Amino acid sequence: MKYNKLKLVGDRTVRAEEVIKRFKATGALLEGHFVLSSGLHSSVYLQCAIALQSTAVAVDFGAAIAEQFRRAQIETVASPAIGGLVIGYEVARQLHARFIWTERENGRMALRRGFSVRAGEGVLVVEDVITTGESTRETIETLSRAGATVVAAAAIIDRSGGKANVGVPLFSLATLEVAAVSFADCEACRRGEPATKPGSRRAEGRRQ
Ligand SMILES: [Zn+2]
Repeated sequence: MKYNKLKLVGDRTVRAEEVIKRFKATGALLEGHFVLSSGLHSSVYLQCAIALQSTAVAVDFGAAIAEQFRRAQIETVASPAIGGLVIGYEVARQLHARFIWTERENGRMALRRGFSVRAGEGVLVVEDVITTGESTRETIETLSRAGATVVAAAAIIDRSGGKANVGVPLFSLATLEVAAVSFADCEACRRGEPATKPGSRRAEGRRQ
């Protein structure tokens, strides 16, 4: 298997290398030829839940994110369900903040279960993986509409290469440049390499 397709961008901090190492060690980062839930083909597949099933990993990643926001007066951490729940909760716990989540209701991201925010409440939105930034953006919009002040967003991995624009400052522990292309543009397909479709079904999963 070739590893040269995986491009870590940015300042190549020890932490980013360590995050990727821990993803690989747990099988949460697969390299090969994959069909993502969006239908696009990619040489990298990320399944954060595999890494986060280790509570020690969740604590470490949570600490690394929380460290960035210690002085940001975060009152509440909010995450889009399901992907952001584990890491969001852990970040909130370490910041001694409240934790809530958004989820889809008839296709639209919403605050449910009686969750509410106060006008001007300082919120940090935490995701596991940023792919297009869509669910983070929708979560920020939902919270802003409800009156909260979304201070920033954070993720364990930003696989958009830093291109995702969520409308607030975005911090990630590692930034990857991972191409996702249509079948017609896929070099691996052209070479005749079979593609695999790992992970959850579309209805349950997020779009990668
Ligand atoms: Zn392909």
